[in-house]
Order: sequence, then C-alpha cells, then structure tokens
Amino acid sequence: MKFRELSVYFDKISQNSSRLEITRILAELFKKLTTDEIEKVVYLLQGKVAPEYEKIEFGLSEKLIIKSIVLALNIEREYFEKEYKKIGDLGETVEKFKTEIFSFEESNPEIKEIYDNFYKIAISSGEGSQELKLGILSHMIRQVDPLSARFLVRIPTGNIRMGFSDMTILDAYSWMIKKDKSLRPIIEKAYHVRPELGYIGKVLKEKGIEVIKKIEPKVFTPIIMMRAERLSSAKEILKQIGRCFVEPKFDGFRLQVHYKKGFNPEIKLFSRSLEDVSFMYPDIIEAVKKQVKASEMIFEGEAVGYDYSIGKFLPFQETVQRKRKYQIEEMSKKIPLKFFVFELLYKDGKSFINEPFIKRRKELEKSIITKKNLKEETILIADEQIINEEKKLEELFDKAVKENLEGIMAKKIDGVYKPGAREWNWIKYKKSYSSKIKDTIDCLVMGYDLGKGKRADFGIGAFLVGVYDEKNNRFLTVAKIGTGLTDEEWKQLKIKSSKFKVQKKPDNYLVDKTMESDIWLKPSIIVEIRADEITKSPVHTAGLALRFPRLERFRDDKNISDITTFEELKKLIIR
Ligand code: AMP
Repeated sequence: MKFRELSVYFDKISQNSSRLEITRILAELFKKLTTDEIEKVVYLLQGKVAPEYEKIEFGLSEKLIIKSIVLALNIEREYFEKEYKKIGDLGETVEKFKTEIFSFEESNPEIKEIYDNFYKIAISSGEGSQELKLGILSHMIRQVDPLSARFLVRIPTGNIRMGFSDMTILDAYSWMIKKDKSLRPIIEKAYHVRPELGYIGKVLKEKGIEVIKKIEPKVFTPIIMMRAERLSSAKEILKQIGRCFVEPKFDGFRLQVHYKKGFNPEIKLFSRSLEDVSFMYPDIIEAVKKQVKASEMIFEGEAVGYDYSIGKFLPFQETVQRKRKYQIEEMSKKIPLKFFVFELLYKDGKSFINEPFIKRRKELEKSIITKKNLKEETILIADEQIINEEKKLEELFDKAVKENLEGIMAKKIDGVYKPGAREWNWIKYKKSYSSKIKDTIDCLVMGYDLGKGKRADFGIGAFLVGVYDEKNNRFLTVAKIGTGLTDEEWKQLKIKSSKFKVQKKPDNYLVDKTMESDIWLKPSIIVEIRADEITKSPVHTAGLALRFPRLERFRDDKNISDITTFEELKKLIIR
C-alpha cells in the first residue's frame, strides 16, 4: 500500500471519536495490508517504529523537524514559524505549505519505504546523526503529497493523536478476522506472552488464530508478568486454594531474566514495566553467568538488598536506591543484592508457562547452580514449603515479617503461569505497609512545575517536596503537591520561590525522572505538610510517599536543619 492511502485512513481515524468506529476502520485497513505492512503500520499508527518495550525513539526535536520542513520546502524559517503559530499544529502547517508549493519530487512512496526511513532515523545516533535525520526527513517531506505530509511530520513528534490504545488494535485484529470483538481474549493472551503488537498482527494475518493460540515466549522479548491476588489471613488462603506452596515475599523489585549461553553469554534484565534495566545490575548479570545452567532460559525473581554486617535484608526504601542510572558500581557495593528466583518460564526451546507450578519449580531447581549460601552467592532459589495448616502458615508469615520481609506468597500447586493476569494462582499476604500518621512533616520545596489551565495565571503548578537524608547529605522526594492550596497560598509560594530559582537541579537532590520539576529551587523554603498515610513508592526517591499531602503552612521560622529527616520519616511507619 502507498503511504498516501494510509494517510487517508489516518485522516478518517483522526476525525472519529467512537472507539467502535475506529476499531472498524482499523480492521478494514488491516485487511488491505500485506503481512509485512501490517507490522509496520501498527507501529506507525502509534508514532513508533518498534514495540513499546524496545524504547526506540526518533530523537528528533521540534526544532530539527522544523529545520527539515523549511529545507524540504525551500522557504524562510521565520515565515513558516509565523504560520505555524497561527495554525497551532505542525502537521497542518506543512500540509498547507505543501498544497501551495508543488514539488516535482512527489513520488507517492510505499509504506515500506517510509517506515524504513523512519527506522533509519530512529536508530541513528552519535556524530553526524542529526544531519542524517534531517536529510532523511526532508527528503520524505518532498516525496509525499500534502495530506501525507500532515501525518508524516506528526509521527516523529509523538503527536499522531489517534486516540486509541493497544487494546483497540487487539480489538481491530479480532474484527479483521471475525467482524466482531469475540477473539480479543485469545489475541490478548498471546500479546501478554509476546507484547509486540505488530508481530501479533503479522502472525494473525499470515497463520491465523489457531497459531496465535499457541504462541510461545521468545528469549529477549519480555513477557508481561503475572500478578498476585491479595488476602489477609492463612484461613482465607487455605479456603481459596487449599494445600499450597508458601514462599517468603521478598521486599525488593521483580526482575525477569533472559539468558542465552555462549562464549559471551547474552543477558537482559527486564523490570515489571518491561523496561530493559540490564545496565543497572551488573552484579546480577555476573551471577547469572555463573549460576545458570541452560542454553536459553527465561526466569523471574525478586532482588532485595542485603546487609552483610548484620545478616539481614534491607528495607524496600534502601533496596530501591539501586534503581538508578548513575554511580552504578558504587551503589552496587553499598547495597549488594540477593536475587531470589521463583519462576521458570522458558528453557531450551520449551515453554513452561502452561505447565503446573510444581513442574516449573522442579525444573528451575535443576537450572540454577547454588550451594544455598546466602553469604557467598547472589542468586538463590526462594525457599518454599507445602502447607496445609492454618497455624503453620501463620507461623511462616510471622517469621518472614521478623526477617524484614514483606510477608508470604502462597502459590497454587498446579497453577499455570498466566502472563499479565492477576489471579488466584498466586496470593500475597502482606504486613500492612501503610500507616496512618498523626504528625505533620516538615519538607523542603525542591521545585515546581509551570501551571497549566487555570493555574497558568499563577505561573506555578504542582510543587515537589522532600525530606533530608542525613547520612548521605541529600534530599529525597516524598510528594508532588498540586491541589489543596488557596489562591493566596499559591501566590505566596510563587513570590517566595522567585528568590531561590536555580538554573539546574542541585546536585544533592535525588529525583526520579518522572518527578522532575520545570523550575528548581535551592534549599530554602520549608513547608509543613499533613498527609493521611505513608506508603511505599517506587517513584519517590525516599522509597516512601505521602498519601493525600496537604499544605498546613509555610515554616519560614524553620531552618534547613529542621527539615524532617529520612530516618525520622521511617520511624513514623508503625509496623
Ligand atoms: P505486590 O507488588 O504487593 O502486588 O506483590 C507482588 C510482587 O511481589 C511481585 O511482583 C514480586 O515482585 C514480589 N515478590 C516477592 N517475593 C515473591 C515471591 N516469592 N513470589 C512471587 N512474587 C514475589
């Protein structure tokens, strides 16, 4: 199919807001495409060139895209930008210019050609890559007709705005085959094993639904992880699943390991959100090389920090500090990890996800070399016992909590591994983590976002607050507060802030990427915050977050040294 025809579909979809109607249009489009095209189109529809987990980005700033456009159309930049300002959408602005300026180079390219070019743009990096990206994009702009140009430039801006999710695409796959959504559960199941939307479409078109039913895991494609149901007593657990395996519930973070043997073994670690986090845990990678006995394997476990000096596991808020992009070596010495493995999903050409748990576990035990020595080894197999008695189960729970663990996991003996599902095959029984707090907390205002909507008038939106980590002389975030202030309080905060703005984030602020502020403030403003609870948090660098935080008052009377410390905050959690 030509990119021009695809653009007509893009246009139809963008004018539609009914999900059902979009599903129908997509199905019609998918039907017309070849097997190769469907894979590519599904990614282009989402402004991507690869599945989400591969995190391949175009690396094209708006500035560079505009540069490509003016180069392609041979027009003045100022003139283009003036029009762009008026129209407000880059795609429509290009379309307008393309309509007015005819180009002899219009060649009505195939989808494949456009996709391949976008792929080249996405994978080029390093020296000279900006020129390369610029060259390819401007060439494509010259090649296509006006309507295609509109969508072409929207693809790399991440602004394709089709307004549908992966699930709509899965629905459309079903519709393509059966003219209804009835096959969606089967297709979704396959997608959980191989979360590559394009690949699923390709297999469906090429081989049909029967092959999709039997789809198998593939090493280095992360499998969407199974989740656990929750109960709060041994009695309920035994009533639900009867005699079961019980394992400690380690309080760290889950990793899915993909391994391929070789002179230089290939290893990838994926987080629960399917992010490739291999570079963060060199200690686990080394241990996998030493302790895995297989040619190819996919397995899972929980990594948890360990304190050698006292022989105990570290609390979650310390373990979570291993999740970082810099100073990896240094941190891996400071917070050594133990990796407790508990699931085998694939080994040497055989999928284990549909095998009963007991069988997966037996094979896992055969596949990890271990002396069961916590002091000497990084990878261990999670302890487990078969339990049939309430009293015994409660005892295991108490023992786990005493050892600084989160509780226990009960696993159905013959349960299969259900990618992406939360079902009764796994049941968690946890100590209560959240705790009501009566006391207020004195926090530092670390930065704020520029307001949106009504808040734009104040020029200040949500603000980020943190506590002081005395041991390491740095500030850790605990909340982002965007509501609950009076207009007067917002104004006050803005005025106070104006004196303390700094160009970049102070070095001793430890902030997760998702919590970055538009404006950074040096340590000066102290606020007293009231919250309902303290909960565990993977996005706040304290590893703890305040739930429903509210500004009690500004504490101009306090000094930086009065800010609640990380240690004090931890003490507020009543166990
Ligand atoms: P939660 O995050 O509270 O929903 O609990 C589920 C998580 O517990 C899993 O995603 C794992 O990260 C973690 N976990 C800790 N120990 C185990 C275990 N023995 N078996 C399975 N999951 C575990």
